[in-house]
Amino acid sequence: MTDEKKPEWFEPEKADSFSSVVKPGVSGVNADRPAAKAGRFVKKRNTPSLDPATLADEIKTGGRTALAKGITLIESNAEHDFHTAQTLLHKLLPESGRSIRIGITGVPGAGKSTFIESFGSYLCDRGHKVAVLAVDPTSSLTGGSILGDKTRMEKLARNPRAFIRPSPSGGKLGGVHRKTRETMLLCEAAGFDVILVETVGVGQSEVIVRDMVDFFMLLVLTGAGDELQGMKKGIMELADAVIVNKADGPNEQSAKKTKEEYNRILHFLQPATKGWQTAAMTSSAIQNSGIDEIWETITAFEQFTKKSGIFGERRRLQTKEWLNDMIIDQLQMNFFNNPAIKNLLPKVENEVISGNRPVASGVDELFKAFFEAKNKLSDLDSFSLL
Ligand code: GDP
Repeated sequence: MTDEKKPEWFEPEKADSFSSVVKPGVSGVNADRPAAKAGRFVKKRNTPSLDPATLADEIKTGGRTALAKGITLIESNAEHDFHTAQTLLHKLLPESGRSIRIGITGVPGAGKSTFIESFGSYLCDRGHKVAVLAVDPTSSLTGGSILGDKTRMEKLARNPRAFIRPSPSGGKLGGVHRKTRETMLLCEAAGFDVILVETVGVGQSEVIVRDMVDFFMLLVLTGAGDELQGMKKGIMELADAVIVNKADGPNEQSAKKTKEEYNRILHFLQPATKGWQTAAMTSSAIQNSGIDEIWETITAFEQFTKKSGIFGERRRLQTKEWLNDMIIDQLQMNFFNNPAIKNLLPKVENEVISGNRPVASGVDELFKAFFEAKNKLSDLDSFSLL
């Protein structure tokens, strides 16, 4: 265990106080133990608090340290932790799901973290328990930078009714989504009834987050003319609400104008949720204005979708797609990491590129080699989902 890999929540009292930094993957929940750091033999893996049944009980009764430990298990890239985490999830699944899951996206600088701070504090004041998670699509590639400012959401991080967890690092392909989804379930089991998932609009991250939440909002800035033209229609079609933020001071009037322009355009777009007309609203995260209206909108949305059955149907579909995505990830990784394929692929590639062989025939040979290699294995090779 190198220092580089040491979890940043090494000091327990600071564990939950950071916002959206990206943690390096850890190779075990013992990573913060001095013996582990010194590279010495770590004797006990199954300390009582890491027994999944005990941990599940502690999480259910709202133990924050237990929750942090559970999430660390989920985020770990070690195989034994994967299995412990799955046992833990199995135990907590019946307690999960009782929340409203809200996704928030917007370009860097749109005011997401300021908004979450204001919105999250508003909800905590009203008796809700708010968990803030982040999906940083760059975390696997760069070690994370976009959501990487530790000073974000300081006030909310100190609120005892809030829990802020930075984006996990990916480990392998697909890792970030799995970890975030599972973390969400753990937070729900711990009694958090509002889950906010923040992401920046990079790559596919908006689509990924849309697929894990009930309500999705897009934070935008004023100066709509250019922005609206530059904005992809597809992103607006994912949103259940568009929030024109920074509607304060000299900006207030232009924000209202921008809101109208968005409303006009939204009218012509396909709604993200059937039967729900996506509307634009203004807010000022700094002055805490517009927050009430946004929460009322979300509450109305929840009532509407629950009544129509869309709420439950969307969640069922999301879980089905999650299963599907993970199967595909798993198949792909198993296939391409298989030594027989690694060996054979360059030859087949050359043959098809040079036009000497039909593509399908190349695929056929590869699959035969893959299954032959699989059949030779005495036991299953390890999970590649981390
Ligand atoms: P993020 O990158 O989307 O998370 O954006 P931040 O929350 O870090 O905000 C970017 C900048 O906009 C910061 O300097 C904030 O102080 C400022 N900001 C955020 N919300 C508001 C707002 O409602 N009004 C004004 N005037 N500035 C804001």
